Amino acid sequence: PSLAVELQVLNLVTSLFLRISPNHTAVSSTLEAFLEDRGYVMKGEDPLRRRFSNALQWYNTLQDRASHFIDELIDVAREERLREDQEEHEVPMETPAEGSTPLLRPSEYLRARCPICFGGKSGPSNQLNAFACIDAVFMQKNNKHASRDPLREHPKTVFIPESEVKLWEDYVAEVRPSQESKDEHSRSARNDHYEGSLRVPNSVLDACEDSFTAADGTRQKASTQFFDSTGLMGMLCRHDRVLWLVNMTSPGERQHYVFTLVERLFNHLPSMVHGWDSL
Ligand SMILES: [Zn+2]
Repeated sequence: PSLAVELQVLNLVTSLFLRISPNHTAVSSTLEAFLEDRGYVMKGEDPLRRRFSNALQWYNTLQDRASHFIDELIDVAREERLREDQEEHEVPMETPAEGSTPLLRPSEYLRARCPICFGGKSGPSNQLNAFACIDAVFMQKNNKHASRDPLREHPKTVFIPESEVKLWEDYVAEVRPSQESKDEHSRSARNDHYEGSLRVPNSVLDACEDSFTAADGTRQKASTQFFDSTGLMGMLCRHDRVLWLVNMTSPGERQHYVFTLVERLFNHLPSMVHGWDSL
């Protein structure tokens, strides 16, 4: 190590970067100027930025790991407590493990993301009334010609893996009807039904597709010539808490990103919950 940073300084900058866009260059040059004014001159060109950024990154990684470790301890203790309650009162467990038996209430993940929308005392699940919105931004890009960073997944990542997005991309490409067949069959003649594993009526998805076509039929918002990751699409609850994000790799919004997000949402909701609104 060639630089020692006081933990309180790292805490201060971490807190700052939650409120403004992270800017290591500005912080480092501010610190350099601040120290220089007090007679502490750092030699060399750009002496602080890279080393300070590394210190901050690894400190934050350590914080995340510690937080995740504590969460796991609490989860284990909670499951034990629930099991004890179950044995004592001989009632079914309130939160079955995901993927094993159908959920009786929103998943642990959703309840942690927004307790107001998905948490609270579990009543009858059909009274769950949650709103989610989806939008995309094209500010976060990755240069196609720059190497990708090594995979360092945050323990509480909200990103859906690219492999999952690809499945929906392939599915949409496979089932999307050609323009001619669309013209032949009017929408009203079609039977409304659920599409694939999504518990959202077909008519809603068709309206969704139309809105994408109307908004972005040919418009490109980011060039795939220069970027392999062109933006982010996110699903948020009505309190602006991010539920999930996907990395976009196309020049504009595409329907399969929405499907990926919607499917993920329903996988975390009780099976009797259905979506019924414009997307
Ligand atoms: Zn919420």
